[in-house]
Amino acid sequence: MSSSDIIIVGAGINGCASAYQLAREGHQVTVIERFSPAAMASGWTLAGVRQSGRHPAELPIAIEAVEMWPKLSEELGADTGYRQEGNLRLARDENEVETIQDLVKVQSKASLDVIFLNGSVEIHEIAPAISQKVLAASFCRTDGHAEPHATVMAFRAAAERYGAKFLLGQAASEILVDRERFVGISTGKDRIVGNNCVIAAGIHSNDLLAPLGLSIPLSIPMVTVIQTEPLQPLLKPVFGVANANCAGRQQIDGRLRVTSSAMDWHGELTQGPPPAVAPTASSIARTIENVSAVLPAFSEAKIAKIWAGLLDLTPDALPVLERSPEIDGIVIAAGFSGHGFGIAPMTSLLVRDLVLDETPRLPLNAFKRSRFQGQEIKQGSLTLHG
Ligand SMILES: Cc1cc2nc3c(=O)[nH]c(=O)nc-3n(C[C@H](O)[C@H](O)[C@H](O)COP(=O)(O)OP(=O)(O)OC[C@H]3O[C@@H](n4cnc5c(N)ncnc54)[C@H](O)[C@@H]3O)c2cc1C
Repeated sequence: MSSSDIIIVGAGINGCASAYQLAREGHQVTVIERFSPAAMASGWTLAGVRQSGRHPAELPIAIEAVEMWPKLSEELGADTGYRQEGNLRLARDENEVETIQDLVKVQSKASLDVIFLNGSVEIHEIAPAISQKVLAASFCRTDGHAEPHATVMAFRAAAERYGAKFLLGQAASEILVDRERFVGISTGKDRIVGNNCVIAAGIHSNDLLAPLGLSIPLSIPMVTVIQTEPLQPLLKPVFGVANANCAGRQQIDGRLRVTSSAMDWHGELTQGPPPAVAPTASSIARTIENVSAVLPAFSEAKIAKIWAGLLDLTPDALPVLERSPEIDGIVIAAGFSGHGFGIAPMTSLLVRDLVLDETPRLPLNAFKRSRFQGQEIKQGSLTLHG
């Protein structure tokens, strides 16, 4: 048996960033990870960092996160690969033009710096590689992208420098509770005694939460990701499309990394390590077709790697970020619904506030688990646009 004041389950970007925020204030932190850091969504991700297209409840978190990203590499002492090169959302037909116009109107009202690009000439000035057949686009200049493995490793290393311990290759099997209070985590063979825990276990969060009656309604769709061999610099902004059936960006090493829409998962996840999901042939074909239509250079690129990723999707596509009102000492940070990478620097500060039982620095009412109880939730739109 060992002990740690704070135990974090999951070494994705949320677990590692939360470990960093808490350890740098001198708290004793242990992170338990079944595989290795960034083994699941935080490694599978496209890794766009955007405010545009965010739900109004999530927008303040995204805006604060975008303030943090440019300073993060220096703060963590390692390059996250972050580049503030904008986010383009493309319209390929008249219906999509209307969708984009509405989006620009709504988001401008929310004081976001989003502009409407009318026609291929205006789009060409920002991204010459985008097809001239694209009719219009929204552009948010302050959005961007980062390199996911580098970012997670940077948070992990910084957390370790402040004394956080990482137990890799070990799975938490049970949250231990005594008289409505968190007392520790069991790994089956061992137990770690603690005062607070953070459940940041992505799609597996309910394995630990459900036995305590704290489960989150999650569906788990799948997204196909294709990565090319390195190309000459051709695309600065991240791109998405109005109906979210593809998105992409050029990595810092020149590779294009593009994604499909979200689709039903066939249910198989090989336990690795690392864990892997096989994409289907039809999703690969559709992704190639959709991306090539808006980014013609993609069709001639050499494919280096193809994988699929899984999303922890809640009914309203917003995460759960709360300190459990039922069992003291349990903080839940899960259900990021396909857009938790970009906001993670700010999410980790909110997790810190919840763990220390301080008033969160931003309102978190929209992220309580109780919103799912006894009321019909409107299905939120899944916005895979980087
Ligand atoms: C294809 C794809 C594209 C995406 N694109 C974007 C994007 O462009 N922009 C954006 O902001 N977001 C994007 N997202 C979403 C984003 O990547 C995720 O929301 C984010 O990475 C979630 O991080 P996390 O730390 O919460 O979860 P994860 O990264 O999934 O980490 C959870 C960790 O917990 C571990 N774990 C689970 N159960 C246990 C257990 N019992 N014991 C120990 N460890 C356990 C897992 O092994 C895993 O490492 C995308 C996601 C995917 C899949």
